[in-house]
Amino acid sequence: MDSSTEGLDDAHLRALVEALPVVVFAKDVDGRFTYGNRASLASLGLESIDQLLGRTDADFFAPEEVEGYRVDDDRVLNGATQWSKPERQQRARPGADLLRTTKLPMRDASGRVVGIAGFSVDETEPARMADELLRSEERYRLALQASRDGVWDFDLRTGNVELSAQALQMLGLPLDTPQVPAEQLRTLIGTQDDRRFEAAAEQLLRQPGRAVTLRHDFEHEGATYVYETRMAALAERGEPVRIVGVVADVTSAVNHERELQRQATHDDLTGLLNRRGFRAVIESLAVDNRWFTVLYLDLDDFKLINDSLGHHVGDDLLVAVSEQFRSLEHAPDELARLGGDEFALLFCSGDDGARAAAAAKEIHRVLTQPISLGDYEVYTNASIGMARSDGQQTLSDTSIIRSADMAMYAAKAAGKGRTRVFEDGMRRRAHEGLELHNRIRRAVDNQEFSLHYQPIWHGNGTDIRGVEALLRWEAPGQMISSPGVFLPYLEETGLIVDVGRWVFDEACRQLAEWRRDHPQLADLVMSVNLSRVQLADRDLVPAISDSLARHDVPVDRVELEVTETAMATEARVSDRLETLRTAGVSIAIDDFGVGQSSLSALQELPFDVLKIDRAFVSKITASGRNPLLEAAFGIARSFGSEIVAEGVETTEQLQWLRDRGCDLLQGFLLGRPARPQDLIASITDGDHAERAA
Ligand code: C2E
Ligand code: MG
Ligand code: MG
Repeated sequence: MDSSTEGLDDAHLRALVEALPVVVFAKDVDGRFTYGNRASLASLGLESIDQLLGRTDADFFAPEEVEGYRVDDDRVLNGATQWSKPERQQRARPGADLLRTTKLPMRDASGRVVGIAGFSVDETEPARMADELLRSEERYRLALQASRDGVWDFDLRTGNVELSAQALQMLGLPLDTPQVPAEQLRTLIGTQDDRRFEAAAEQLLRQPGRAVTLRHDFEHEGATYVYETRMAALAERGEPVRIVGVVADVTSAVNHERELQRQATHDDLTGLLNRRGFRAVIESLAVDNRWFTVLYLDLDDFKLINDSLGHHVGDDLLVAVSEQFRSLEHAPDELARLGGDEFALLFCSGDDGARAAAAAKEIHRVLTQPISLGDYEVYTNASIGMARSDGQQTLSDTSIIRSADMAMYAAKAAGKGRTRVFEDGMRRRAHEGLELHNRIRRAVDNQEFSLHYQPIWHGNGTDIRGVEALLRWEAPGQMISSPGVFLPYLEETGLIVDVGRWVFDEACRQLAEWRRDHPQLADLVMSVNLSRVQLADRDLVPAISDSLARHDVPVDRVELEVTETAMATEARVSDRLETLRTAGVSIAIDDFGVGQSSLSALQELPFDVLKIDRAFVSKITASGRNPLLEAAFGIARSFGSEIVAEGVETTEQLQWLRDRGCDLLQGFLLGRPARPQDLIASITDGDHAERAA
């Protein structure tokens, strides 16, 4: 570009040069300063021009700098038209690190070079900025290389998308792909869902600078990745010109999250939904006002199997039944293990009520087949409660689960292996049941249990053979309750193990006391009932030996009463009984005749005494024959065991039994269960003899 100084006179030109914030100077051919403007004086720390005129660079600068300037000066003096070079001065203006100095030759009228004119511009700041830019670009490039995130840059004007190497790799594109067309952007952010894509694009363009995040699955070479793309539009003068996206592979984080989610809603053992997961499903149905039916299922006697065969067998059983529920012909829409041996089946499609009822029937049928678990064959059944939603939100979601639960309890109370449909009365009864449950729990802590004793007489009716210890519960301000009321709860909760231990120990203590205080009772046999839950207790044998030893009771003075069903449950139980019997404890089969064991099963069981159930005794009529009872006598004799007739209430019954030579007799007629002191009074005053006469 040509310019001219015409129109600007020398005086103005000079004033202007003086005022410039740029160092301006002139030197003669020998390098002596002939001029310096204000800025140049300031840069050298001089106060007046006199301090500069006639001096050389050597007066102000370091030798190596001086040498550099001289070389430059010579270039200009020797014909260069202009010379310019950046230089770092050690004694430059304060704050200035980098000066670009430009030098021009000064000529006289004849064209001879008579000196040098020059100016220096401070380039410190522009240089710093350029450096900074270079550095940040470098940093950015390094960060991109090191990052596991991919980056793409969509130029809205050209319609091209540029991708970082990592982005190419993540998207399965060849690394030398320079650019991809905009249509492929959809693949990049992975949404095939038009609505989602459009919503995202709209938001990006409407609010440049605002980040939008999309998460999506990406399939590549058979694997599924989860990518999260964070993107924002960049605007120039208010117009979006580019969209930049960062793609992160969040697969492992998402998998981890999903696994945690799965664990929170699923049962580890069976892989089924857990209570929380099941609730969530039910809640979502309730939100949609859907009709559905829930079966609440509890395995009967699971605790028994678990306690006697061990937890691993119990676990195997839970897995096995969950498989069976899964593969029912009337399979549920959802299946959950709510905890312990409780399962829930949900039916929410088709005719849910009818399907659920059919499934319940099928479950009872399937479960009666034995399940083999390793060395064991296990029989089980289930109590099932059924409840149906009304498709309206009047019933809260989870109250259906609760209703089905109550119906299940009703099924259990009705005798196990059954299904009950929820009805309103159950709510009240369940409440009462809960109340009783809590009271019994407290009864254990408060020692509200006691023992009553009922005499068992020899057939002659005058000599006492022994007593049966019978458990009683007497809470303050309450009538005495019999085991029929509370025993099922004790068994169901397993509390019977502790209570039963106390019973045996207390019976031994009482027997020892009587033996000490009444020498005539030295041969008294103490009979104690054992529930099947107690038989399953591993510590039964040691606990019994401990009590016998502690109270110094001879082992042949105690008898354990066990029902045939309890004895027949499984091998270990009879092993346990055999151990006790070998040690000298007498074993009685209680309630004989109402149980389920066959004659052949009876042969396997170790027993010394058969107690014939009251149901048979009560059918005795004076005149008639009593074939069942006679058969029972026959069986007992064939096994060489003694017979106790239970529940003798009338003199007719007593006579009939005596006539048949029945060994031992027990019943209200001969003595009711009584407190220890009352019992002793009655057997020593000869009351019974009158009755028996
Ligand atoms: P069980 O072992 O068959 O005991 C006999 C039951 O018949 C007792 O009922 C007794 O009071 C009753 N009884 C005796 N003679 C007559 C009679 O002439 N007529 C009538 N109607 N009943 C008579 P209780 O005491 O209510 O016990 C019921 C069951 O509870 C017992 O039947 C026994 O299986 C169980 N039980 C009682 N105490 C214990 C215990 O300490 N531990 C365990 N595990 N079970 C117990
Ligand atoms: Mg008994
Ligand atoms: Mg009995």
